[in-house]
Amino acid sequence: MTIEPRIETAAPAMIDPFGRAVTYLRVSVTDRCDFRCTYCMSEHMNFLPKQELLSLEELDRVCSAFIAKGVRKLRLTGGEPLVRRDMMTLVRALGRHLRAGALDELTLTTNGSQLARFAGELAEAGIRRINVSLDTLDPENFARITRWGKLAQVLEGIEAATRAGIKIKINTVALRGENEDEIPALIEWAHGAGHDITLIETMPMGDIDGDRTEQYLPLSLVRAKLSERWTLDDLPDRTGGPARYVRIRETRGRLGFITPLTHNFCESCNRVRLTCTGTLFMCLGQEDAADLRAPVRASASDELLNAAIDEAITRKPKGHDFIIDRRHKQPAVARHMSMTGG
Ligand code: SAM
Ligand code: SF4
Repeated sequence: MTIEPRIETAAPAMIDPFGRAVTYLRVSVTDRCDFRCTYCMSEHMNFLPKQELLSLEELDRVCSAFIAKGVRKLRLTGGEPLVRRDMMTLVRALGRHLRAGALDELTLTTNGSQLARFAGELAEAGIRRINVSLDTLDPENFARITRWGKLAQVLEGIEAATRAGIKIKINTVALRGENEDEIPALIEWAHGAGHDITLIETMPMGDIDGDRTEQYLPLSLVRAKLSERWTLDDLPDRTGGPARYVRIRETRGRLGFITPLTHNFCESCNRVRLTCTGTLFMCLGQEDAADLRAPVRASASDELLNAAIDEAITRKPKGHDFIIDRRHKQPAVARHMSMTGG
């Protein structure tokens, strides 16, 4: 399969009604995954029929339209992006925007299971940094949390990516009673290997088999405990996203906290999210969305697509209002994180 290059360089900004420039697009390329993490999916998920998905060519077209409109950073996610068939075709095609200087960063969030196989090709396509999700270093706990995953495979993937020259950031979801006690060890391991690590609070998205209120561990508590052990120096680094960073003096590594439930980070939000069916979500925590698949399929020119994107940006809301409702135990947002990729 070949993807015809469309390169645009003159990039007018997309400005939302609150004056925020949208410069970051996250794209969930598939809702499928080779793991079934307990906080993310139920064990028996119904996945989308293939014909509903945007083809790789269509994904490339939509991403390129966003780049032409001023997106400078593009993250591919999922589900598990590296299980989508022929995924490297898309990655290589998008790499042309890096070479043309139209994109600053092309990156990926992955569970790491396929990294050993693809690390070299990812590096060749221009990917310099990736996020790898890893919640525990204990093989049995890893199998329990991911249901289907194998820790050794992920660790091999991380090593392969590092050898290929890709910088790794570890993402760890903090889970009460499940990996709570392992968090210091994970941090020591990550920093010892030269990786940044970010802790994430569970978000109430999509039905899962268990009870989310049982898994929810406020990062304020985690941070307080870590402060008893180490010296945490606040860093000014902001990415326009929800993470706040500290440097741990003793390990000399960077640690991030993503706390959507206990902090409001929406005022600096610079991102929108595209699902694999071409639905654009202007906010992770709201249901409002725009369909980009219909305009993509309606014509070969990008006029309708561009108009749909412009209209969607006028609807970007001020912020989200996630709560984990302890009485009703329903997710605040019905779609799973694997639809929008986090
Ligand atoms: N499969 C890839 C992975 O696991 O990295 C990419 C998609 S996954 C949905 C992206 C990130 O969202 C992962 O770091 C995962 O741990 C996180 N995640 C999934 N469900 C979540 C939830 N309900 N609350 C908080 N984070 C979640
Ligand atoms: Fe798959 Fe990532 Fe969700 Fe785990 S968190 S089930 S690896 S999409």
